[in-house]
Amino acid sequence: MGLLAYFKKPGEMVLITNERMNEMMEERMDTERTDERLDTISSLQGEKKCNNETTGRKGSAGNKWSIRRESVPGEGRVRCTSISMKTYKPHLICETRRKVEDLCRDLVVNNDHIHLVEMRLRDSISKGLDKEHHDQSSVKCYPTYVRKLPTGREKGRFLALDLGGTNFRVLLINISEGYFLMESEIYSISEELMLGKGDNLFDHIASCLAGFIVQYNLGDLTLPLGFTFSFPLIQDGLAQGRLAQWTKGFKCAGVEGEDVVHLLKEAISRRGDLKIDVCAILNDTTGTLMSCGWKEPKCRIGLILGTGTNACYLEKESKVGTLNHDPEQGSGSDIIINTEWGAFGDYGELDFIRTKWDEEIDEQSLNPGKQIFEKMISGMYMGELVRLVLEDMIEEGLIFTNQDTSVLSQKGAFPTRFLSQIEADAVGHYDRGREVVGELGLSDVCEADLSALRYICECVSRRAGFMCAAGLTALIKKMDYKEVVVAVDGSLFRYHPHFRNVMKSRVAQLMGIDYKFDIMMSEDGSGRGAALVAAVLKGGDIQPEPVNQKGDLCSIM
Ligand code: ADP
Ligand code: MG
Repeated sequence: MGLLAYFKKPGEMVLITNERMNEMMEERMDTERTDERLDTISSLQGEKKCNNETTGRKGSAGNKWSIRRESVPGEGRVRCTSISMKTYKPHLICETRRKVEDLCRDLVVNNDHIHLVEMRLRDSISKGLDKEHHDQSSVKCYPTYVRKLPTGREKGRFLALDLGGTNFRVLLINISEGYFLMESEIYSISEELMLGKGDNLFDHIASCLAGFIVQYNLGDLTLPLGFTFSFPLIQDGLAQGRLAQWTKGFKCAGVEGEDVVHLLKEAISRRGDLKIDVCAILNDTTGTLMSCGWKEPKCRIGLILGTGTNACYLEKESKVGTLNHDPEQGSGSDIIINTEWGAFGDYGELDFIRTKWDEEIDEQSLNPGKQIFEKMISGMYMGELVRLVLEDMIEEGLIFTNQDTSVLSQKGAFPTRFLSQIEADAVGHYDRGREVVGELGLSDVCEADLSALRYICECVSRRAGFMCAAGLTALIKKMDYKEVVVAVDGSLFRYHPHFRNVMKSRVAQLMGIDYKFDIMMSEDGSGRGAALVAAVLKGGDIQPEPVNQKGDLCSIM
């Protein structure tokens, strides 16, 4: 066994095997690993390969020193692969920066970690689909009862509601072969409504709908309506869905466990002035898949990366043990499954990579213990994660020293769009980074601090991209199609400058070269998707309006 010894600095000698040095060089190109985490992975996989003994503290300072041992298979002996390693980075970076990177160490995940995330998620999906094990899975995999993807030949005029995102919208959608014509209005949902009584929320929705119908002169028609309701929904049919639990900052009383379509219909009949045929309820992942599937038949996954995260995919009906077999709906061979993967980790599956900042986010949320995966990778939480790391760095005197940083101690002070802005600068340039710190009221921030800030943002967004890649890989492996297009919607994915590349390259690594996959950005999946579900359901028996009306015309040609 070849050993290499070198002095990191006077008095700190590092002794290391050739093998370990090669390993470390590879890791350095990509990510860093903590010995503690590797130990966790091996033990969780039930084949304990290495026996690490770490004496450094987890978190801010990383491992101060460690002896790393590996048992040699079949030889019954233990060998040391490295001794007394503080850091293997050469002295290219200053002490403060080294401490910054050390403090972020727990946010760094590597291929081993995401491989384990992927395997566990796949396992949870299988359990979620299985009647017997459904209760033991955090990933519920609800059947949507949408059994057909659009063909591109759908026709008709439809209303759509979109609730569950940043805005509530009512839309009028005219579909014909090759085009969509959409008109929509945005309505605000006050915090009072988000946290108040459910009836008030649905009365508000019905009142917005009534205003829209008057505004667009639709009073004489009974148009089919698709309701995009982007919260975990237990569906018993296409137009029946019970809210499993509120997420993303909503917490209205009296809705969890209730049929949301029924609540909407009740609110409509309380008004007595609306003729609406609520024919389908879906969530935004299904809408996204439908809207891209309209153009691209290879679309088989819908992914949301916005305020929250979720994914749906096309599954063989025969593999869905939780399905209510309703003869009316026919027995197509495929069905869209709404995974609700945001809840992955709620049963502890992600504890091995969660950091104290993730725990803090969870504790401060409206739904502690719930939506653990979502809280690590979506727009509502990523900025807040960066803020919490920054708070610790400020406390340790590693960043923004001699500045008034009080603004950063307020929850929500660092929105996720700041990550996109900061990471959009070319490396070594800080124009947008300076704008961000300026918005936060900090001036004369040095480049070292701007670079450290970028480093934190990158740790958070790369981890999110990696975890999302693990999720997609789990779905692609589950479906076992050799070529898949993933339909994606959501501002995080749309506006973050590197999310797409990080996620795509990671899926390619995890899947190997035998699988091809591509990403297709959805144009307003929540709105169009609702209309398309209604259209597929109605079988194209509603005639569209002539094209020469005003509105946002989207051609596919
Ligand atoms: P929703 O998911 O609510 O339907 P969006 O897809 O627009 O709506 O996502 C909104 C979320 O996206 C917000 O939580 C916000 O944090 C995040 N977001 C908005 N703009 C950006 C941006 N430029 N970069 C990254 N994230 C963003
Ligand atoms: Mg949305």
